[in-house]
Amino acid sequence: MRQARFEKPDFYRSGTVYQLLPFQFMDFGLGRKLVVNEVGEHLILSNAEFQAFVSHGLDQACDTYLDLKTKHFLYDSESKVPFDLLSIKYRTKRAFLAGFTKLHIFVVSLRCEHSCPYCQVSRVSTDKARYDMSPETASRALDLVFRSPAPEVKIEFQGGEPLLNFERIRQIVEEAETRGAASRKSLEFVVCSNLTLLNDEILGYLQTHNVLVSTSLDGPAFLHNANRPRAGNNSHELAVRGIRRVREALGEEKVSALMTTTRLSLQHPHEIINEYISNGFHSVFLRPISPYGFAVKTARSTGYRIEEFVEFYKRALDYILKLNREGTYFVELYARLLLTRILTPFPTGYVDLQSPAGAGIGVAVYNYDGDVYATDESRMLAEMEDKQFRLGSVHGDSYEEIFGNELLRTIVASSCVESMPGCADCAFQAFCGADSIHNYGTQGDIVGHRPTSDFHKRNFELIKHLLTLYHSDSTIQRIFWSWVQDAPLGQLTEGVPQ
Ligand code: SF4
Repeated sequence: MRQARFEKPDFYRSGTVYQLLPFQFMDFGLGRKLVVNEVGEHLILSNAEFQAFVSHGLDQACDTYLDLKTKHFLYDSESKVPFDLLSIKYRTKRAFLAGFTKLHIFVVSLRCEHSCPYCQVSRVSTDKARYDMSPETASRALDLVFRSPAPEVKIEFQGGEPLLNFERIRQIVEEAETRGAASRKSLEFVVCSNLTLLNDEILGYLQTHNVLVSTSLDGPAFLHNANRPRAGNNSHELAVRGIRRVREALGEEKVSALMTTTRLSLQHPHEIINEYISNGFHSVFLRPISPYGFAVKTARSTGYRIEEFVEFYKRALDYILKLNREGTYFVELYARLLLTRILTPFPTGYVDLQSPAGAGIGVAVYNYDGDVYATDESRMLAEMEDKQFRLGSVHGDSYEEIFGNELLRTIVASSCVESMPGCADCAFQAFCGADSIHNYGTQGDIVGHRPTSDFHKRNFELIKHLLTLYHSDSTIQRIFWSWVQDAPLGQLTEGVPQ
């Protein structure tokens, strides 16, 4: 049998007036192919155009030729600096790598007074003060934060419920401010809280030190209270009151909210969005449940198949698009993130979907006891007795030992979509990313198996859906561009690029 082999270079050059540049492609239905290049530029071609293009037979005078040339799918003798332009776009898309770790998460307490069945952090009850971060651990963690080369650093306080150890938040904010002024790093602080413990003193402090607030809002009262039970069954009432108080004290844009989709949520996409609108939000982030912590133990009551989430997401997105068509500016934030990648060369800084994965190099987590983890999810795995992704400890390990160790190098090397099996030849790789910790947590292997991966199924289906919508309707194109530019339709600064 004759073995397949590459021909000599002349075979590929002969008789052609243009050369192909690297790209991926996939069938896009209706007799079309989607082509996407290394920097995320995309085009949809008819099968006949695609065939002519790849066999070097495309007419140089046709529009498709010019489109392919402009978007760096081919070059010819008249192309001016195509590789320089491509490399600039490539560097722009990878700009998130500059500066190394920018997001530093402090788990100041593992205690919480809620008992959410899907809780990702396997909280412990409020009386266990030994699960609070100590002053010494906080200071040592800050030593590592200020070794990070990033000129801009975000410090996020998580738990449990971080306000249960507000004293530590104060210490960290004030120490960081002092060290930030000396090191000329710009700092941003965010506290992720259920707002139950919010009081005037805390509000005053957050205002004085410009601390942003991120909270949870899962939907209307019946849904939020079912998802987030606490004594008194008033979690929703307290969250909504807290959001209002933060807005009054700190300003409209200083509070954001996240929702988690449980099995109950799947039936109520419209109600969830209406709840966000009625509480003054202009966006929602539709998040699937995380397969860690208590969510594993309660999967039978709160869990669902990823296909059900995708169906829920599409219904919710349909409703959001309807609202936008009717004049209400409202954004789905995961769609904005994916659209920014699909429509622009700019990185999003979203550490859960990048290549290489953001674990350790984009985000680091300092647990209450001083252990350092590559992501919040790896800390949750540790709470499930699996310390596979523990990078080291602030008590005893140096910056180099934690952020330069073999474990972190392995995570980075195993999470480049450009070389991962299944992703390497996927047309969506420029829009997508990898999550080694998720692969390990759900499939027992950091590289993972794409055909059975929930991470892949969710991202593949959502990217395809967004591209299909974008290319089916000019009004949707304008709405999507308004989301990317973060401006209501009437304030779009530029026309919609074709
Ligand atoms: S995870 Fe799936 S959609 Fe994303 S690049 Fe890999 S194969 Fe493509």
